[in-house]
Amino acid sequence: MTTNAHLFAQAQALIPGGVDSPVRAFGSVGGTPAFIERGVGPWIFDAEGTRRADLVCSWGPLLLGHAEPRVLAAVTEAAARGLSFGAPTATETRLAEEVRRRVPAAEKIRFVSTGTEATMTAIRLARGATGRSLLVKFAGCYHGHSDGLLAEAGSGVATGGLPASAGVPEEISGQTIVLPFNDTAALEECFAERGEQIAAVIVEGAAANMGVVPPVPGYCAAMRALCDKHGALMIMDEVLTGFRVSPSGWWGLHTRLAPVDGVAFEGAPGLPEVEEYVPDLFCFGKVIGGGMPLAGLGGRAGIMDLLAPLGPVYQAGTLSGNPLSTAAGLATLRGADAASYERVARVAGEISGAFEAEFARVGLPVQVQRAGSLFSFFFSGSPVRTYAEAKACETFRYEPFFWALFDAGAYPPPSVFEAWFVSAAHDAEAVGRVLDAVPAAVRAAAEAKA
Ligand SMILES: *Cc1c(COP(=O)(O)O)cnc(C)c1O
Repeated sequence: MTTNAHLFAQAQALIPGGVDSPVRAFGSVGGTPAFIERGVGPWIFDAEGTRRADLVCSWGPLLLGHAEPRVLAAVTEAAARGLSFGAPTATETRLAEEVRRRVPAAEKIRFVSTGTEATMTAIRLARGATGRSLLVKFAGCYHGHSDGLLAEAGSGVATGGLPASAGVPEEISGQTIVLPFNDTAALEECFAERGEQIAAVIVEGAAANMGVVPPVPGYCAAMRALCDKHGALMIMDEVLTGFRVSPSGWWGLHTRLAPVDGVAFEGAPGLPEVEEYVPDLFCFGKVIGGGMPLAGLGGRAGIMDLLAPLGPVYQAGTLSGNPLSTAAGLATLRGADAASYERVARVAGEISGAFEAEFARVGLPVQVQRAGSLFSFFFSGSPVRTYAEAKACETFRYEPFFWALFDAGAYPPPSVFEAWFVSAAHDAEAVGRVLDAVPAAVRAAAEAKA
């Protein structure tokens, strides 16, 4: 039998760290990553034949689960007609229609291949539209790995304990102002000092790359008002939250875009207070491609039309709007109906609720934080609203917690700073597998020593 350890050793000889994206290396939990052979519904199977209930779902895209038959059929059908043309296809327009139906403020949409490209392009567009240079981002928010966005980023940058990345010139990082998240006063102060130089503020819908940290009530609306007052654009990065926490993402959930495709969210855990605001630009990724490389940006037509070929802001891509990716995205969004969203919300509530109850039973202070169907655990006695608070938690408890779950046949994210993801394919058996593992995992976390 080929073992995960053998495959990891082979990979490490050829690929830096053995992985093509850092968190996959299990660096913060130690041990050997599972090499995945296949997935079906809520399950993933590794090279050793072990089946685990997946709580990562490819970091979000697989809203309908692995190898979903309708998505596979759409991709297979598209593949038989050719893999790429570098020319427009009607599927791109159909997908743009579906995005705009769900997120009406995305009046026009441009498709790219990764979330990184989507945020990079949105920022270039905001600079082109305003003629200004400075960008405001928030500590702990992750917006992909382009140069200007890695300062105090979440996700793998947080997992690796890095303040930023080497290789980013000061001339570039100096164009990014990093502020604490959920701190309206800090944002006001920043605008008061440098308002006329700020092109845009970029924010995750709900921050979910430092663990799940939803915006405090009033924060998004205040951000909108400050951007308006100072002529800056508000970019909402919904790469992770888009089409996942509701049919129209965080914005739809937060504003209760009526009706959010008839989904009955009332009473669901993680439902934010209603707030009114409309971002200028949205970034999409993950669910929009259903597991294929696809992302996009959308927003006000007057801004979007500044993109080439209509306007002076350049953006392009050999594989942008790829026919297989758009087919997978369209099949995923069409398949993601009210029942899917209700299922995802219910499963997320069951799993996070079971952990919460067990943490309380053993007396371990843990914050179970939710943003719609996203959740994560902070080993802390008080709610986490900023990156500084996230980093100050008892992160040492995560490693044994993770391995207790992993060894019991679940696959949680291999970093305390990542959100947990479930799918509409998570059935009673998969949920049961996780629930059965809760007591031992919570005990392992409680007994952990710093
Ligand atoms: C994943 C993610 C990105 C980057 O997307 P990639 O496809 O990995 O480049 C950007 N923003 C947010 C909020 C993300 O979660």
